[in-house]
Amino acid sequence: MREVEARRDELVALTSELIRIPTLNPPGEAYLEICEYLKRRLEPQGFAIEMIRAVGAPGDSDRYPRWNVIARREGRYPGECVHFNSHTDVVEPGRGWTLDPFGGEVKDGKVYGRGACDMKGGLAASIVAAEAFVALFPDFSGAVEISGTADEETGGFGGVAYLAEKGFFSPSRVQHVIIPEPLNKDRICLGHRGVWWGEIETFGHIAHGSMPFLGDCAVRHMGAVVAEMEQSLFPALAARQTDMPVVPPPARRSTLNINSFHGGLDEPKDGFSGFPSPLVPDSARMVLDRRYLIEESPEGVKGEIVALLERVKAQRPSFDYELKELWGVTPTMTDRDAPVVKTVASAIQAVFDREPEYVASPGTYDQKHIARIGKMYNCIAYGPGILDLAHQPDEYVGIDDMVDSAKVMALSLLQLLMPVELA
Ligand SMILES: [Zn+2]
Repeated sequence: MREVEARRDELVALTSELIRIPTLNPPGEAYLEICEYLKRRLEPQGFAIEMIRAVGAPGDSDRYPRWNVIARREGRYPGECVHFNSHTDVVEPGRGWTLDPFGGEVKDGKVYGRGACDMKGGLAASIVAAEAFVALFPDFSGAVEISGTADEETGGFGGVAYLAEKGFFSPSRVQHVIIPEPLNKDRICLGHRGVWWGEIETFGHIAHGSMPFLGDCAVRHMGAVVAEMEQSLFPALAARQTDMPVVPPPARRSTLNINSFHGGLDEPKDGFSGFPSPLVPDSARMVLDRRYLIEESPEGVKGEIVALLERVKAQRPSFDYELKELWGVTPTMTDRDAPVVKTVASAIQAVFDREPEYVASPGTYDQKHIARIGKMYNCIAYGPGILDLAHQPDEYVGIDDMVDSAKVMALSLLQLLMPVELA
């Protein structure tokens, strides 16, 4: 599409400018600033702007308000609404940068900066695609929406989850959702695995360290839990394979990460150089991060942990535990025959002259809220950039990749919102 190609420089400039707004999360900086920037950009082109603060969401405060923006451009005729959703937050730069993480520098056909690929490049591509489409076909049918939302990197509760609860993603208002996360310009991401986080605490009995027989060591109990995991759980998970096209392929198995393990006295605080006191630990805690497949259920995932703890209990007379569920997300997979999938697939075919690759994500992103709360299942992630670069130093997005994926997005708009006189 020539109309998109002609906006190449504008796309680069827009990406750089978005990177220069340091929307660091946590704590949640500059959300209002980036929402106002998007408002100034889209309002003059006929988009109606709604600014929504997720009042009371986790992390929302007067110092760090969770602002979101939704821009909606109505066509001339009734029809369906295509929504592009991008999160505006970025993770902290960390160490190892050779360029300014918030400079938006352009070099060797790439735009550099924190959030370049995850996902300000995708946001910019969707904006330019929508602008090109609206300029060329102002009399289209239906509506185009572009949202910039908060907190995806910390769960999305002050962003898409909040908006979904307020009805912004209900199927009566929005019929197609594209999330321009950096999955690569010729891949369609259909969904993601499930998440289950839990905390196990084992209990013991405190005593003097010189007479451990008078106490009961909670860390030894937890050690028995880990041993049982090695014995039975990890092999069982590794044997479970999904039909979901998860990338990278090792994530097609069920996985468990022991996120943290702590027992006994607290780690010495900074500056304390004395010795620890001799105590038998009466508590040990372990946080589990379990990622599960669409073929599994959250009840099954939890049940498997409970069964494991009960097996340990049967072998250890004084074993006592508590299991707390911290949070969870059910897996989601959009059907390959869903309209948005078929449309974007044919646009990829038209731009690259090849079939798209269908993938699923090992971790979750905002699609979870659109599906679970919004009840909108015609949703995919599609956008420019390489996922492996996300959260890395010297993160970048390729300019050609952005232009190409903006073409795919614009063609998809054309197919879904064809002006009546062309239909
Ligand atoms: Zn992202």
